[in-house]
Amino acid sequence: MAEQKRDYYEVLGVDKNADEAALKKAYRELAKKYHPDVNPGDKEAEAKFKEASEAYAVLSDPEKRRKYDQFGHAAFDGAAGGGGFDFSGMDFSDIFGDLFGFGGGGFGGFGDIFGGGRSSRGGNGPMKGQNLRTSVRLTFEEAVFGCKKEIELTIKEECRSCKGTGAKAGTSPETCSTCKGNGQIVRTRQSMLGMMRSVEACPDCHGTGKIIREKCPDCRGTGYIPMKKRYSVDFPAGIDNGQAVNLPGLGDPGVNGGPRGDVRVEAIVGRHPIFQRDDYDIYSVVPISYAVAALGGPVLVDTVDGKVIYDVKPGTQTDTRVRLKGKGVPSWRNKDVRGDHYITLVVQVPQKLSPQAKEALREFDRLSGDTLNAVANTTGEGPSDGSGGDGAGKGSGRKKKKLF
Ligand SMILES: [Zn+2]
Ligand SMILES: [Zn+2]
Repeated sequence: MAEQKRDYYEVLGVDKNADEAALKKAYRELAKKYHPDVNPGDKEAEAKFKEASEAYAVLSDPEKRRKYDQFGHAAFDGAAGGGGFDFSGMDFSDIFGDLFGFGGGGFGGFGDIFGGGRSSRGGNGPMKGQNLRTSVRLTFEEAVFGCKKEIELTIKEECRSCKGTGAKAGTSPETCSTCKGNGQIVRTRQSMLGMMRSVEACPDCHGTGKIIREKCPDCRGTGYIPMKKRYSVDFPAGIDNGQAVNLPGLGDPGVNGGPRGDVRVEAIVGRHPIFQRDDYDIYSVVPISYAVAALGGPVLVDTVDGKVIYDVKPGTQTDTRVRLKGKGVPSWRNKDVRGDHYITLVVQVPQKLSPQAKEALREFDRLSGDTLNAVANTTGEGPSDGSGGDGAGKGSGRKKKKLF
């Protein structure tokens, strides 16, 4: 504090005639940038944040601003006894309440920096209960077409003995004398920047505003009893792995009259032996014979709707992909939309052939290009007997030597 203090207007980067809104805007920008929550462990940022806070505290107060304009920093020398700065009377929650998007719960970091506790605007106001999560396993088909599943949840139910008050039957909770039922207390303390006022949750009643002298034995003073309950959950057709169904109002009870939280039930979708899913489309591999690939013909294809007949076109090559329109997964957002099923036709090469089948294949080959003798014909070796490949034939070994 010994070094020369910067001009408050300069600190905030505003001109001498800046109005209330301009000051606030400038300060919010700086606070966002230098707040210790955003720059953990950064001493320089913390110093900048304090400097901006002090400048804003003075300039946003018409009386202090007038004095500052007249006397400069000297106006506040010794103001708080220790040469520090007096922040009392400042309400930062107005600035910080929504600064980092923390709704309702107030701003947590401010008190910590200035030596106070958590500043909370929430007090004992109504707060929604915690959301809970659980998961359910679905089969591939259940996810595609939707299903109902029974789940068991442990729900915190209001305790009947004390009707949720947490106090033993015949007694009732007393208003907390420390906070007079407000649930929060105001603390004033000396910090390095002077007097700081902070609002904290009351330590005696933990922010509830009530003290329970004799706890209800059934719920141990919590006011709630965990109960196992069964619920039927509707999973919509088309739900995918990792997506969740929301059950509103089945989560933890709210605080001080707030609504209950929700339960999110996540779908864990099992794998299918044949089908793969990508969003709303399904993929599978369909083996077809050489004859069907060459001549064309009907094959039975498994889909999620059951077996369908697909007519393979003559001359189909292996790995040909075909779309079965509308045989995929229904969209769970739009019932009229359904994905497609893509099949990949894979030509199978026979591994076991009867002697008659082999002879027929040789005959087929002679009629369709004579590929079995292509090498012999090119190297002038004379036609093969077509028995190559049946073990270590003497002929084929000799030919290879010549070629390589
Ligand atoms: Zn109870
Ligand atoms: Zn209290």
